[in-house]
Amino acid sequence: MNSRVFHRHCHSTLPVAVRGEGAYLFDQNGKAYLDASGGAAVSCLGHNHAGVRAALHHQIDSLAYAHSAFFTTESAELLADKLAEHAPGDLNHTYFLSGGSEAVEAALKLARQYFLEIGQPQRTRFISRRQSYHGNTLGALAVGGNIWRRAPFDPLLIPAEHIAPCYSYRDKRAHETPFEYGQRVANELEERLLVVGPDTVIAFIAEPVVGATAGALTAEEGYFSRIREICNQYGVLLILDEVMCGMGRTGTLFAHEQEGIHADIVTIAKGLGAGYQPIGAMLASDRVYDAVSNGSGFFQHGHTYMGHATATAGALAVLNAIQNENLLPNVVHKGNLLMDRLHQRFAENVHVGDIRGRGLFIGLELVKDKETKQPFDPVTQLHARIKNRAMELGLICYPMSGTIDGTHGHHILLAPPFIISTEQVDELVDKLGNSIESVI
Ligand code: PLP
Repeated sequence: MNSRVFHRHCHSTLPVAVRGEGAYLFDQNGKAYLDASGGAAVSCLGHNHAGVRAALHHQIDSLAYAHSAFFTTESAELLADKLAEHAPGDLNHTYFLSGGSEAVEAALKLARQYFLEIGQPQRTRFISRRQSYHGNTLGALAVGGNIWRRAPFDPLLIPAEHIAPCYSYRDKRAHETPFEYGQRVANELEERLLVVGPDTVIAFIAEPVVGATAGALTAEEGYFSRIREICNQYGVLLILDEVMCGMGRTGTLFAHEQEGIHADIVTIAKGLGAGYQPIGAMLASDRVYDAVSNGSGFFQHGHTYMGHATATAGALAVLNAIQNENLLPNVVHKGNLLMDRLHQRFAENVHVGDIRGRGLFIGLELVKDKETKQPFDPVTQLHARIKNRAMELGLICYPMSGTIDGTHGHHILLAPPFIISTEQVDELVDKLGNSIESVI
């Protein structure tokens, strides 16, 4: 087909997706694909969920859209109530947007405005981590750590400081316990604050479980508590980006619930709309919200589609489904099963260096050799080749080339729907194994 759609990869020929059902997508030829990554960790309920469809029909039949400067809507109010009820800490104020990057942009700007409201205008910098992805708009790209994604646009980006991630597989020293390692890398935040001047920094932003640049990288126990402590000590805000790892993906509604800390601002997207609607959100704590509410009374930011009635109705139905169908225990159970099966399948494979993650958010790191952990050269385009082979075999997984200290590493991210069955876990592992082994 001679496509007039400006596809991201201009020369790729893509199948036409025509139908989705449960864990499967179908193309124009009727070929089935097991959607083991929800696209990019989006489709947490699977496809064609009857309850979400009904809620969307109901909303559109009465009201599709009303601009948020003129009206609020019942669905936006109910969704904000529900998120506040279930979020850790006092994240009682939700700002609805249309996706993850928009949510991150709003978070960065709200954090900056917070300091203007409380009389600290000298705070202008953000600190984040080298293995991180926070979105593709200019602000989000600036704080993200993926050098390859940032490089062409570097001259346009606000300056941001990047410290080490918590990446045991690559960086933990042999004599360190996991806890000691976590403390060492968390302390890099304090070291960097002292170098740049702690009272010039607005916020530290991090993904509780890193997704798109490192393949489901979890932090060591105690890492995020130490990060929180340092932020408190220097008056820096903590922004947690749960765009990919949030909304139940790791087994709890918010991934940072498992870190035992509270954030000042949290971003969510992907699983929030589960692909039924494009929607993201930024949740602000009482302290941050009150500074604006009691100060200028106006957040100097906004988009046309924020608080979209149909999008919020869809997201509300998704959240109801996660709760009413009691899906989070299945995330933990099937996540453990998938992890076990992957370890069995790849035990002898010298190219699968690490298998990690939490819940149904699992990453495989591919290396030339397990012993040396040497990454594959980026020119091998391994991720693209595995993706293509997997699609031939009827599997959607999310291979990516992240960065390991400036060079590319290759990972495969798995984020299947929360409804995945045991048979589908086996199908996933089988097809993934065949895809990897036929390429390397
Ligand atoms: N933040 C994180 C952690 C992400 O993984 C992503 C997307 O992958 C984004 C932000 C950007 O979200 P979007 O692609 O919806 O703009």
